Amino acid sequence: MALMHAPSRLPTSPARAAIFLDKDGTLLQDVPYNVDPARIALAPGAGDGLRLLGRTGLPLIVVSNQPGVALGYFQIEALEAVARRLRELFAAHGAVLGGFHFCPHAPAPDGGAGCSCRKPHDGLLRQAATSHNVDLDRSWMIGDILNDVEAGRRAGCSTILIANGNETRWDPGRLRVPDYIVGRFDEAAAIVIAQHAARMEAVA
Ligand SMILES: [Mg+2]
Ligand SMILES: [Zn+2]
Repeated sequence: MALMHAPSRLPTSPARAAIFLDKDGTLLQDVPYNVDPARIALAPGAGDGLRLLGRTGLPLIVVSNQPGVALGYFQIEALEAVARRLRELFAAHGAVLGGFHFCPHAPAPDGGAGCSCRKPHDGLLRQAATSHNVDLDRSWMIGDILNDVEAGRRAGCSTILIANGNETRWDPGRLRVPDYIVGRFDEAAAIVIAQHAARMEAVA
């Protein structure tokens, strides 16, 4: 589901690359099931990282599992205040929140995804790609656990894992191998910047 709609565009405009960001533990300090804007704070390096990513001009799209909706911990409307706070934090660092897409469903009883949008599935990225006219093959997914990596790889994106201790299971799998592993958000941003610059040179 999305709380923000993509700006209108010409139907002929070519699909563009985007940068998908996991929210909790990646962009924000992880406070489980939190929807209180006052308790939303950027993760270490995220402010500097947003400033860097904002300079690319690529859409920055947050993709987040929010099972607290289905579990009854909060109403779906509470996520509007979260989106507002994200928009403020992006703006404070010279960036624009391009979209906020979330899976409101609960995991299946066996712990697997009970829907096609809960990461590690790629439904959220595909939804976002459709509404924002994104070329997934040229896009990036940045997250703090291997489910983010798998979702990104399923969608065809390049992936960066911020190994900050939040992944604890390290379940293996062909799709759970990130392209890059870093320690902080700003380091992930630096990789995207370098690769983006190289690609722009390649097409110039
Ligand atoms: Mg996370
Ligand atoms: Zn879902």
